Amino acid sequence: MATPELLPLFDTIAQCNRCGFCQAGCPVFRVTGEEHSLARGRQAIARSLILGTMDLSKEVIGALEDCLLCRGCTAHCFPGIRTDEIVTAMRHAYIKRHGQPAWRRILFRNILSDSRTLEFAGRMALWAKRHGLATAAEKTGLLGGPDGRLSVANRVLPRMDAPPFLREAKTQVPRPKKILHQVGYFASCGLSFQYPEVVGATLRVLARNGCETTLLDNTCCGRPAQAYGDLDAARDIARKNLDRMAGAMHLDAIVSECGSCSTFLKEYGELLKDDPIYAGKAEALSKKVRSFSEFLVAAGSTDGLGELSGTVTYHDPCHLSNRFGKITAQPRQLLKSVPGMIYKELPEADWCCGAAGSYTFLHHDEAKGVLDRKMVNVVKTGAQTLATECPACMMHLDYGARSAGLDVRVRHLSQILDEAYQAAEA
Ligand code: SF4
Ligand code: SF4
Repeated sequence: MATPELLPLFDTIAQCNRCGFCQAGCPVFRVTGEEHSLARGRQAIARSLILGTMDLSKEVIGALEDCLLCRGCTAHCFPGIRTDEIVTAMRHAYIKRHGQPAWRRILFRNILSDSRTLEFAGRMALWAKRHGLATAAEKTGLLGGPDGRLSVANRVLPRMDAPPFLREAKTQVPRPKKILHQVGYFASCGLSFQYPEVVGATLRVLARNGCETTLLDNTCCGRPAQAYGDLDAARDIARKNLDRMAGAMHLDAIVSECGSCSTFLKEYGELLKDDPIYAGKAEALSKKVRSFSEFLVAAGSTDGLGELSGTVTYHDPCHLSNRFGKITAQPRQLLKSVPGMIYKELPEADWCCGAAGSYTFLHHDEAKGVLDRKMVNVVKTGAQTLATECPACMMHLDYGARSAGLDVRVRHLSQILDEAYQAAEA
């Protein structure tokens, strides 16, 4: 049975000349060596689905699950085919025809789409992790299940000892000495629960740079739903965020220090372009969004940084790399502006680390293979600090450093700048 839903992609897929240059940039293919892991193989599957020589079955969609959506292939592809968009379209077509597992439907449509439910679910997960329930369940095999996915999550996730960052805590927002900018802060789920200390550092650095910051009443940005192909849920989440952020459109910028959130918010205009009510609002919001480093460099103020020591290197989150958001010069410029700290470029800095949201929980062997390659490159730099600008990357890189026994601290860029400002005041 053919898959006519993919017909609009046929011209794009037809551009694949089967040259195989995508092998050079695909982190998953480097681990598996399987043709179906490669962009060329994914185009072949899409072509067969359109022509009806292959059914959109569970097995076929299973073979597509190992795509990181990282566009490593696109960078090496002469026609520049965005395989991530083709894979997402196939996942979407599958969901439309066969539905999706209950846990994903509930997560995308009931939890991530509502900030209050999301905060409640996040607090429950934190409570379980802190009280050792997750670890105890792992030891007794309760988390194992048929493939041990939750057990992997329990190992990969950080300790998460600090209280989460909740939007009601408006008093946590520091005020600038002199107001130069008015910005809205889009809190990411990953940072709020896994790394609330990063949120604190970001808000202090923004205040230090003259920002009067308003906490936005947002929920998840919708990227996880989009990545799994539930585009209806992603659009629903985007509309809810647009309603919740309607009062922020007078601000100078909407800032997020999560590379995935900021890039996806910039894609809202495209995501909702056919929506008669929200298309204009989405386009306007997308133009207002800035990633943390992008905003700071454009604001032009990094003076007053104190001295730090050691060597730092930087990992480009996929969504900020030149394949997506193109925010690569700014984080490097900021790191190099810290006095006393030596910056060393990371080989293959823009190669995916294998986290890809929750990919590492679902395809851990492939993700770990991708991560091991990243860690070999980190060792080559001799850096004691590995900086990045995305919570999923932080989680996975930290897990990689722990697993490899490396004496490397994984830090968000905002934490390093915050430390440098504190050093100046000490
Ligand atoms: S590099 Fe592009 S054109 Fe060549 S095989 Fe891969 S996807 Fe096809
Ligand atoms: S998007 Fe990434 S993982 Fe998927 S085929 Fe391309 S390079 Fe490989």
